[in-house]
Amino acid sequence: MSIVYLNDEYLDSKQAQISVMDRGFLFADGVYEVIPAYNGQYFRFEQHISRLNQSLAAIHLPLSISLANWQQIALRLLEANELVNATLYLQVTRGVDPVRQHLLTQSPKPTILAMVTPLPEIQLQANIKDLAAVVAVTAITRTDIRWHRCDIKSTSLLANCLLLQEALENGKDDTILVRNGYAVEATASNLFMVKGQQIITPPLDAEILAGVTREFVLWLAKELGFSTQERLISESELATADEIWLTSTNKEIRPVVELNDVNIGTGRAGPVWQQLFEAYQQLKNDLYQGFNPLS
Ligand code: PLP
Repeated sequence: MSIVYLNDEYLDSKQAQISVMDRGFLFADGVYEVIPAYNGQYFRFEQHISRLNQSLAAIHLPLSISLANWQQIALRLLEANELVNATLYLQVTRGVDPVRQHLLTQSPKPTILAMVTPLPEIQLQANIKDLAAVVAVTAITRTDIRWHRCDIKSTSLLANCLLLQEALENGKDDTILVRNGYAVEATASNLFMVKGQQIITPPLDAEILAGVTREFVLWLAKELGFSTQERLISESELATADEIWLTSTNKEIRPVVELNDVNIGTGRAGPVWQQLFEAYQQLKNDLYQGFNPLS
């Protein structure tokens, strides 16, 4: 049995119900977050809640839940589901309207859902020696068919789903999205490229999500002494990168070893990825040892 939080109640997921008039169901009028917990501690919790608040503000959805309230809900869900390594999913929709209408009325009560699922195996396997081969992915490039507010973590993910499906139908793992000749991000992760000793990622704007992992990886890269750049990456430049990575809460840092049927670098995870990945795992391990769950 899994216990979820829905509008102030902790319920068996089978009992949790949402109205057919919920704008989240009818219009994908809502936003979400995904936050990992390792060993009972949430990782970058404050950053995720801060981005949730930005997404809510961007869709004009007022919500007064404090960071401490969110933390209480998040920790109680771990306890109720007897999990210590988990992914927390939070979703807030504009709530229930009396009639289906496009007009944004200030619905009296947003719908708030939170649930936890066990963390993907891959994030628990940091000690496996040749993890590089396990986490490496292949990708294709396609035109980005999403809207122009990809900085909002909207639940409207149909374009992302279709673009991922296209990769899978081509026997690949993911699709890197291209807008006006520039690679922006993948279907559910941010994009990095290595050229020599330079680590490059597209700049933050309305075309990409400000990934919490992206920010963390940029910080980590600087700590390790790499020079980092936030600038546009053309599709042709990406094709000749020494290394390509995808970053996200669920994927952490994944090397892309093949793009459009052509090897990237040697066709194996590169040395810069290896360094960043090991530092990431090390830092995570250090943080487990009694760090403040909100940091
Ligand atoms: N870009 C998109 C489109 C995403 O869906 C995600 C995560 O779901 C990311 C980037 C990475 O964000 P984060 O590192 O905060 O998980």
